[in-house]
Amino acid sequence: MICDNISINNNGVLTFAGQDVTELAQKYGTPLYLLDEEKIREKCQTYVNAMRENFGDKYAVLYASKANSFKKIYNIVESEGMCVDVVSIGEIYTALKAGYPLERAYFHSNNKTDFDVEFAIDNGVGHFVVDNREELEVIDRYAAKKGIKQKILLRLTPGIDTHTYEAVNTGKVDSKFGTAIETGQAEEIVKYTLGFKNIDLCGFHCHIGSMVFDSDTFLRGAEIMLQFMAKMKKDFAFETKELNLGGGYGVRYTENDPTIDIAANIAEVADFIKSNCNELGLDLPIILMEPGRSIVADAGMTLYTVGTVKRITGYKNYVSVDGGMSDNPRYALYESEYTLFNAAKANAEATLKCDVVGRCCESGDIIQPDVLLPETERGDILAVCTTGAYNFSMAMNYNRIARPPIVMLNKGDSYVAVRRESLDDIIRNDI
Ligand SMILES: *Cc1c(COP(=O)(O)O)cnc(C)c1O
Repeated sequence: MICDNISINNNGVLTFAGQDVTELAQKYGTPLYLLDEEKIREKCQTYVNAMRENFGDKYAVLYASKANSFKKIYNIVESEGMCVDVVSIGEIYTALKAGYPLERAYFHSNNKTDFDVEFAIDNGVGHFVVDNREELEVIDRYAAKKGIKQKILLRLTPGIDTHTYEAVNTGKVDSKFGTAIETGQAEEIVKYTLGFKNIDLCGFHCHIGSMVFDSDTFLRGAEIMLQFMAKMKKDFAFETKELNLGGGYGVRYTENDPTIDIAANIAEVADFIKSNCNELGLDLPIILMEPGRSIVADAGMTLYTVGTVKRITGYKNYVSVDGGMSDNPRYALYESEYTLFNAAKANAEATLKCDVVGRCCESGDIIQPDVLLPETERGDILAVCTTGAYNFSMAMNYNRIARPPIVMLNKGDSYVAVRRESLDDIIRNDI
């Protein structure tokens, strides 16, 4: 199985976190997002324990909440000792309403409006991860008005192309995020930042990519960041207190994806950072990581009910489900791969090759093409695995389709964490 929380019981029915998914579909209706709370906690603990072992108390693990943001998840990650990264005032407000202590939040975004900055400062967001000069000016102005010194990290682009593992002068240097080291602009923005009275520059941030399975990418990123830190110490006597290496560890969407030992990867990165700090004459900064996908992705599964099965003789077959790109736009956006099961026939021979599609009025509304399923008919429950990240958080109301609920699974129990949208929710802002 692609993840150890998925299994098939003696009746040939798919189980998730030990629970029969056809029963869950029956109880809560479909489409339905399931989230395995114990798996989320296990992933948080993997990161937190590995970071503590390697860095003592000089670490923080931030849950990148854009992967899946709703009130309950902030309580779960808080109880596991995690900080959070938020990218909008919507996420800040969600965390706030969940009772999450916002001094433990890091506020990203390449384009924070004046209102965003004021909202975040007013609500006591601990750190801003500053993307650009304009943002610095707005933060300084508003922090002065409030009589505070706002902590920030500067987001820099070390210029690593994750697909070739080469430090290149294209690709990430021309990213819309952050400030490039290679062009000398990073150094300029540090100098500029140090001139603001109401800003406390704590350190630097970089985020190299996504679906990373090796430590090499993080080592290359860390190397460039540490050299930059040494240069800032030499040029401006600036001591970096915090270094944030971003997120990006991969997960298994299919059997072909590799497995990854996150603890071993972190240990390798830690050794590298410590020896480099030594060589460069730097004090070890607080090391931050901000995983999103690898915390929640394989804690998720989506259940659908099959509607029509269309066989276009000599061409292809379509299995249509009661959701689609409105709850999972990732194939439409990135041609992402997924593993699917016909839940009640999980052991049956796969004889039906089909595209599993949604019910949106859009030909690109495909959950997954070329899937092999057992003979499938109206009323069957289909399960799509590994949907805990970037599914609910990317869901939309195209065609005025209501978004599914999130049901959490925990030790044999289940509870609703986000309720199903109603038709009245759909029109709630219409005048
Ligand atoms: C998206 C993002 C993350 C999380 O990435 P994952 O691939 O989900 O781990 C972390 N940091 C930043 C700045 C991001 O934009």
